[in-house]
Amino acid sequence: MAVFLILIGPPGAGKGTQAERLEISLGVPHISSGNIFREHLTNKTELGQAAEMHIAKGELVPDRITIGMIEERLSQPDVSEGAILDGFPRTIAQADALDRFLEARGENVDPVIYLNTSDEEVLRRLTGRRVCRAEGHIYHAESKPPQRAGICDEDGSDLYQRDDDREETVKERLRVYRVQTAPLIDHYQERGVLLEIVGEQSMDSVTDRLKSVTSVRASG
Ligand code: ADP
Ligand code: ADP
Repeated sequence: MAVFLILIGPPGAGKGTQAERLEISLGVPHISSGNIFREHLTNKTELGQAAEMHIAKGELVPDRITIGMIEERLSQPDVSEGAILDGFPRTIAQADALDRFLEARGENVDPVIYLNTSDEEVLRRLTGRRVCRAEGHIYHAESKPPQRAGICDEDGSDLYQRDDDREETVKERLRVYRVQTAPLIDHYQERGVLLEIVGEQSMDSVTDRLKSVTSVRASG
């Protein structure tokens, strides 16, 4: 049976970092809504232009645009065994759309991992975050520096700081998270699929916890 694992948590909780690692151990693709939006921005597509202002302000891109984009990605052949969803869903309407989409394929969301991380830690992480131009690999000036300054270890492309990782925009993204995304925690808790992991531990400790949770699910 396919595995559709969802990572929920505030911006900077470590969703992308853990999804990169889980992609290797679970063997299903990491789908990051933020990365797909950034590709559209780089390629100046129509969708990218529609999303640009929202992203720059730290707001969510409207559901209609986001849901269509993710459904298209989930329809690609590499998703037949499942996916790790990082950054989607972020609203109840997105969660409902995902349920409908998966139900039509006889699948469902499980597990949903909530990476619980405080605002202070998130702010520290996001202001030091650097990402690679080519594929969005994630670094941190202190907790995960690259081997060569400013260069991605994986693909040699340059590292940059996202515009929306400036402190002011991060504060707005945290506000938006609390209002629009945090309700998903209760939503999935009520369905019995939510697992909470303390985000404020080392990257390796979070990965170990995630691996033990996912291997238990896979075998049981
Ligand atoms: P982070 O991992 O730091 O939370 P992302 O890279 O996931 O940031 O998202 C960057 C921006 O892209 C968000 O602030 C938002 O504007 C937009 N975005 C990403 N995913 C979604 C989504 N599911 N719904 C609406 N907007 C989204
Ligand atoms: P998200 O996808 O939830 O926005 P990221 O995975 O991009 O979060 O992580 C945000 C920043 O914090 C990155 O710079 C990353 O290197 C760093 N980071 C991620 N997990 C940890 C951790 N457990 N401890 C310290 N720094 C971390």
